[in-house]
Amino acid sequence: MHRDPHLPNATTNAALMGRRQLAVARGVGQAHEIFVARARNAELWDVEGRRYIDFAGGIAVLNTGHCHPDVIAAVKAQLDEYTHTCFQVLAYEPYVELAERLNALAPGKFAKKTLFLSTGAEAIENTVKIARAYTGRAGIVAFTGGYHGRTMMTLGLTGKVAPYKTGFGPFPGEVFHALFPNELHGVSVADALASVETIFKNDIEASRVAAFILEPVQGEGGFYVAPPAFVEGLRAIADRHGILIIADEVQTGAGRCGTWFASEQWSVAPDLIATAKSMAGGFPISGVVGRADVMDAPAPGGLGGTYAGSPIGCAAALAVLKVFEDEQLLARSKAVGQRLIAGLRRIADVQPAIRDVRGLGAMVAIELFEDGNLARPDAELTKRVVAEAARRGLILLSCGSYGNVIRVLVPLTASDALLDEGLQILADSFAAVR
Ligand code: PMP
Repeated sequence: MHRDPHLPNATTNAALMGRRQLAVARGVGQAHEIFVARARNAELWDVEGRRYIDFAGGIAVLNTGHCHPDVIAAVKAQLDEYTHTCFQVLAYEPYVELAERLNALAPGKFAKKTLFLSTGAEAIENTVKIARAYTGRAGIVAFTGGYHGRTMMTLGLTGKVAPYKTGFGPFPGEVFHALFPNELHGVSVADALASVETIFKNDIEASRVAAFILEPVQGEGGFYVAPPAFVEGLRAIADRHGILIIADEVQTGAGRCGTWFASEQWSVAPDLIATAKSMAGGFPISGVVGRADVMDAPAPGGLGGTYAGSPIGCAAALAVLKVFEDEQLLARSKAVGQRLIAGLRRIADVQPAIRDVRGLGAMVAIELFEDGNLARPDAELTKRVVAEAARRGLILLSCGSYGNVIRVLVPLTASDALLDEGLQILADSFAAVR
């Protein structure tokens, strides 16, 4: 096929950006003006042959790294057998096996069942359907700064307007937002729990609330860890009123936080868990795992989807679980987290803009303020550091309600040498833009 001679040469990032701008809807954001040509483990190369260290991991999808050979081999083997039947038409063993594995991994001393979907948002949608079917109630209480996806229900649950919700409403009703505790920004655990009671007073009676939904560590919202006392307080309120707790583990799950599910570290169990992203190492599959009695509330035919729980996704996810065992990646997740925290603290020692270094396992972030003043989150500096790091060969992502957080989602399979190289680029980038 001959290329149109009027089209720009497609081998530079700039030329591809030009074509992208003409061809792709502008609403689809892009953190870096880079087009990838090849990726392996925690490194990638762009179409101009430039090398990068990947601290973004495709937004928390690559805990086992780009193209892990065992995951690729499992997918290739699956491709040779069958690629699609639709599980609701003709079932297949990998789906059942993966459900058995996740049921065994999920926290809580009760029987569990699982359902598979394709995306994180779809998993969250289904947690709401299941919670409503089980309780016979409509209300859902989500939290400020939470992020749950881009479908209408999940946008309704998301606790941040720009850019996600702008211009897209109205969203489904009976969704309310309580405060997520955030000591750094002046919201205590007591404030947050009191705000739940305020919703029961002002907006909806507790007896009509089906579920609370929260992330064990807020992801897009800024890597704020839900304090244990908050989770325990919420569980107490939930139990008092017959309300379910949904853990959105789309970003925190699959070993990111040092345990397979971050909620394993809670002293109380969630009733439902949504999982996606890294569970299949780069292939699209998501799931809902939860209390068997709750999961069985929807009638047969009420749950599913054409591609939901695809054989490719199941094969990839089973391979990811095996890689976690073979390479002891849960222990590695804790070690990566410690190394990152130590390295980031060293940068914070000489960069007063960094006022907080935090994380759970390998879900780690720093938060930036103008002159270190907690009243002035510094989104501008955050942008400059992230852009400078990319120029120097390190791919980073920002996040946070104020856009002033730099997060690290590097593959857990990255070597210590690569982590250190990435941290050095980050240190140099701070020094260069200050
Ligand atoms: N929940 C959380 C916590 C997420 O981080 C995300 C994605 N960033 C989603 C839900 C939505 O997942 P997806 O983009 O796969 O629909």
